[in-house]
Amino acid sequence: MPRIAVIPGDGIGREVITEGLRLLHALNRWHGLDLHFEELDLGADRYLRDGTTMPPGLFDRFRAEFQAIFLGALGDPRVPSNVHAKDILLGSRFELDLYINLRPIQLLDSRYCPLKDTEPSQVDMVVFRENTEGLYTGIGGQFKRGTDDEVALETEMNTRKGVERIIRAAFAYARQSGRKSVCMSDKANAMRHGHDLWQRVFKQVQAEYPEIEAFHLYVDVLAMEMVRKPSRFSVIVTNNLFGDIVTDLGAQIQGGIGLAASGNIHPGRVSLFEPVHGSAPDIAGKGIANPLATFLSAGMMLSHLGHSGLEARLRDAVQFCLNRGYVTPELGGKSRTHEVTDAALTFLENQ
Ligand code: ATP
Repeated sequence: MPRIAVIPGDGIGREVITEGLRLLHALNRWHGLDLHFEELDLGADRYLRDGTTMPPGLFDRFRAEFQAIFLGALGDPRVPSNVHAKDILLGSRFELDLYINLRPIQLLDSRYCPLKDTEPSQVDMVVFRENTEGLYTGIGGQFKRGTDDEVALETEMNTRKGVERIIRAAFAYARQSGRKSVCMSDKANAMRHGHDLWQRVFKQVQAEYPEIEAFHLYVDVLAMEMVRKPSRFSVIVTNNLFGDIVTDLGAQIQGGIGLAASGNIHPGRVSLFEPVHGSAPDIAGKGIANPLATFLSAGMMLSHLGHSGLEARLRDAVQFCLNRGYVTPELGGKSRTHEVTDAALTFLENQ
């Protein structure tokens, strides 16, 4: 029985997870998936109530008892340090060694693309962002803080093991899904030590995948090319910082942050799936949060659990909502959050 830990979290996270669960419960029933959900009381309210961010032993429970974690969003103006988000989300990435941040960038309806004359067939890429090292490990330090002589160091960590496993994951995915190319992006012309390692490992791994076109772009060129000609890209693999940035660029190309889904994955182990957007305090409680990124993230989670056919059906349901205009106000629509779900459920029930 696959077990899923649910962390609705804060703000619109709670609203979109409620809707995501409506779809998941329906699919569970219709397809006899036998999914078991356990909702966890974590987030800003819990932290403000008893000071808990991550209860002791919970990471062990995740590893031992669960196949997936379904997360809404974390962030609350009452917790300016954001310590609970750091402990829960960054904690999970590192503690559970979720080394793949998987971010599909797919245009499902050209009306929502800010690039002119762009068709859905021209935007269909998947970014493999390294998720456990790079510039986000906190290695570094401050010297003479607050003085005119202050020095601040932030060290980028690249391990051979870490670089190799994310590059391998990108190629393995390309082969398994029949995608034509893998683009590796770095800044080896300016960051000559760490990114030289990326270059060497990329060359080594690409030799094992002769049927897949492998090419390299510096990250500044990648950013330009994603806008100029997104159809050049099929699979992109890059480090933690660059991946963070180019996936947000990609989110806009596919129609905005309300459509961007993500997986934090360690193949074969418990992995975490979440919409990319934050808790959006400005619209929380108004019933107008876009749940589509959550539906797409739920689809990625079902794929992780072995139901890739259902991921495709959820994507079709999202496309249906977009095509028929069942969209929330930030996309120019009039639908409320639960009405988008109603439309998706009707579509799924009738297919
Ligand atoms: P964080 O600082 O954690 O990223 P945030 O929610 O303020 O949190 P974003 O996720 O970047 O930041 O969202 C920016 C704005 O985009 C939000 O304030 C909200 O107005 C809008 N937005 C984000 N997600 C959605 C959504 N699912 N539906 C509708 N609007 C959204």
